[in-house]
Amino acid sequence: MSPDPSMAVREASSKSAHQPGFFRRILELILLLLTSLAALFYFKSAEEAQVEKRRLEEELRRVKSARDDSAGGRCAVCMGNPLEVALAPCGHVCLCRECADKVDTCPICREDIQDRTGVFVAT
Ligand SMILES: [Zn+2]
Ligand SMILES: [Zn+2]
Repeated sequence: MSPDPSMAVREASSKSAHQPGFFRRILELILLLLTSLAALFYFKSAEEAQVEKRRLEEELRRVKSARDDSAGGRCAVCMGNPLEVALAPCGHVCLCRECADKVDTCPICREDIQDRTGVFVAT
């Protein structure tokens, strides 16, 4: 008996469609796509949150320094940052945290700095 060609084609196509792993492969690809999209979205929002945080910190510092400026307290070295450190043993409050770490002697009285204590200027 000769095989029916149309039967053979149908059999072949049904075989390829029901190949084990065919749909699973597509499903895996879709899952992979969804996962990478989710990861992309997560990273994007995390990055945005980071930028927002930096912006807020900057704003906070600006507002804080503006407030301290009205109280008349500014770092004697950089003239920009508010007063944040008391020097020991001379006791002068004339530096920000950044500059206090850079200098070895008090810019007011030239005494050697032994210790630096953080202060909060109440306004
Ligand atoms: Zn400074
Ligand atoms: Zn001093």
